[in-house]
Amino acid sequence: MKNGVMMQYFEWNLPNDGKLWTQLREDARHLHEAGVTSVWIPPAYKADEQRDEGYAVYDLYDLGEFDQKGTVRTKYGTRSELEEAVAALHANQISVYLDTVMNQKTGADYTERFMACEVDPHDRRRLIGEPVEVEGWTGYTFPGRGDTYSDFKWHWYHFTGTDQVYEPGKRAIYLIQGEGKAWSEGVDGENGNYDFLIFNDVDFDHPDVAAEMKRWGVWIAETLHADGMRLDALKHIKNTFIGEFIRTLRERRGKEFYAVGEYWSGDFASLDAYLEAVGHQIDLFDAPLHFRLFEASQKGRDYDLRTLLDDTLVRNYPTLAVTFVDNHDSQHGSSLASQVESWFKPLAYGLILLMKEGYPCIFYGDYYSVAGEASPHRTILDILLQARRTRAFGEQIDYFDHPDTVGFVRTGDAEHADSGVAVLLSNGDDDAKEMSVGERHAGETWHEITGCIGEEIRIGDDGKASFRVQGGKLAVWTKR
Ligand code: CA
Repeated sequence: MKNGVMMQYFEWNLPNDGKLWTQLREDARHLHEAGVTSVWIPPAYKADEQRDEGYAVYDLYDLGEFDQKGTVRTKYGTRSELEEAVAALHANQISVYLDTVMNQKTGADYTERFMACEVDPHDRRRLIGEPVEVEGWTGYTFPGRGDTYSDFKWHWYHFTGTDQVYEPGKRAIYLIQGEGKAWSEGVDGENGNYDFLIFNDVDFDHPDVAAEMKRWGVWIAETLHADGMRLDALKHIKNTFIGEFIRTLRERRGKEFYAVGEYWSGDFASLDAYLEAVGHQIDLFDAPLHFRLFEASQKGRDYDLRTLLDDTLVRNYPTLAVTFVDNHDSQHGSSLASQVESWFKPLAYGLILLMKEGYPCIFYGDYYSVAGEASPHRTILDILLQARRTRAFGEQIDYFDHPDTVGFVRTGDAEHADSGVAVLLSNGDDDAKEMSVGERHAGETWHEITGCIGEEIRIGDDGKASFRVQGGKLAVWTKR
């Protein structure tokens, strides 16, 4: 069995040059050789303006093909360039996961008049005043695309709420009024009801909307030959719809069609409840682990490393956890910033890339660059990716037994020659830990591959050795 690795192939500060799809195509072979087995690409459809990252959705059917919002291409390129990138990735055995942004739309083509009631932004269930007639940007005809691929036109009654009512000096959240109109159930409880995130909030209780979104999901997955999806903003979307959506896609694309959801919460209980609600049909990003890595990186030696995996998704649902260190939402400057400190990144990646459980995702910003500035972590990531590909096999034995130094070993297996690895993480002083890599390794000479420790070590006849690590560093030991 192969050790999969996902790469998030974008960060928040990429230039608006329309070149990402071309870069991805040209990079496909290297990614394969580096050990990447799947790529999560950014939202590929037309946003309200060219420079947008893709979360300000205008037209889900315009993949950089139609002259809309003053541009044919998106921030990342044209539809044909995207299709060429997907073909190159597939030619290199790399799966493609689409960023799927269904919660909100903006950039409407015209205004409509309808009844709406302002709500308290901190408790969306609480109405402020009486319903009033408003003029909101909620009408979509997609004049550049017309009826190509879909003749669905969006109107105010396809949304639950909006902040797209522009009055001088005022920005408010409105609950749209009408038959059956209400915030959705099956969303996160923050702010009373977290159905509304931003822009025009798509109403998944409207049967025409639910049908159209499922039709679109099948269309984009088939059109781009996608292997899976990364589902955006699940805290804000009716959970039963997501269950139906994934069932529909797997009926059409096969049961192996992959899905991972973004449920941005550090609280394991919330993720647990969500997985239950969607029938454990999808993976989730392990946000609780991310927040532990963030906290550990901030506290330094005051953090008890033995607790690093407590109440994480990967510990409780190892087969449903996508482990990651940072992403476009956690990186500095984003609205949800919680970026893991640079000194701790090698430790964090050593953990997620070499441990047995979880499906690790590496971040473009950590591998390549942020805002054009080269990442200092690429060398260590290449070392760890190679170790994952060739060494990280077999059973795992944990040594999470000291607050400043924790470790684990993978014992290796017969299928992969020279497999087996011993990993140490330190946030304190130089240290050593006796760990057993198994008697099958007795007498072997092992060395440290990250440059942390110079000298070699001999595995004892009992399969044990005292593995060293420098203070505040990662050490990764493998057979020489
Ligand atoms: Ca919503």
